[in-house]
Amino acid sequence: MTKQAPVMVVTPHPDDAEFGVAGTVARWTGEGKDVIYVVCTNGDKGTSDTNMKPDELARIREQEQLAAAKLLGVKEVVFLRYPDQALEDTSEFRKKIVRLIRMYKPETVVTADPYRRYTWHRDHRITGQVTLDAVFPYAMTFLAYPDLLEEGLYPHKVKEVLLWSSEDSNYCSNITDTFDIKVAALRCHKSQISDNPSTGLKERMRERHKMLAQGEDYELAEAFHRVVASTSFKLLTGLQF
Ligand SMILES: [Zn+2]
Repeated sequence: MTKQAPVMVVTPHPDDAEFGVAGTVARWTGEGKDVIYVVCTNGDKGTSDTNMKPDELARIREQEQLAAAKLLGVKEVVFLRYPDQALEDTSEFRKKIVRLIRMYKPETVVTADPYRRYTWHRDHRITGQVTLDAVFPYAMTFLAYPDLLEEGLYPHKVKEVLLWSSEDSNYCSNITDTFDIKVAALRCHKSQISDNPSTGLKERMRERHKMLAQGEDYELAEAFHRVVASTSFKLLTGLQF
C-alpha cells in the first residue's frame, strides 16, 4: 500500500512547482531522492487565448507538467484535477492530501506559502493552507481518519515543510548547478511562458535567483520559509505512532 518517497511537492497549478522549487527538485533527484508531485488544479483557466477550450487547455497543461517532471527526474505525478480558480478549503481536499502523505511518507513537503499578504492567487493560498493543515495535525493524528487506518494508511510525521514565494524566507537552497535544468523545465510549460528572445526568460530568472542567494557563498538560490517538525509540531511530541 505504501510507496515511500522522501519529498512531496504539492503545487496549485501545473507550472508553479517549476517556478518555486524546480532547481532544488533537480538537485534532490540528482542525489537519488524520490520526489512526488501532487498537482491540485487542472489549470484550465490559465490562458488569454479566446479560442482555447478549458478541456483542451487542461489536457495540454497536464502534458506540459509531465514533460517538466520527467526532465527534473520526478518519480510520479499525481493529478487531483480540481478546476482552476475553484479550489476550496474543504475536508475532502484536505483528506486527499492526508491520504497521499500517509501513502508516500515524505520527510519533506514543499508547497506555496499561504501567508503572502494582499495579492496572492486564491488557489495558491488554499493549497498552502490545506497542505499545512494536512501535515499537522491530520496526517499525524491516529484517530483523525479511522477509515484510512482500515486501509493501512497510518499516521505519518513530516519532518519539514518548505514554503515557496514566502515574504518571510528563512532558508536558501543552492541551485547554481541545476539552474539550467530549472529553466528547461519551465520552458516545458509552453502554454504559460512566452520565451522569445525579447522576454529574456533565462536572464530574468538568473537575476531573481542571484538576488535570492545574496549573503550565501554560491551564486543562485531558491528561497523558502522552512518549518521544522521538532519546533513547530511539538503539540503532539511524545505521542507514539
Ligand atoms: Zn499558480
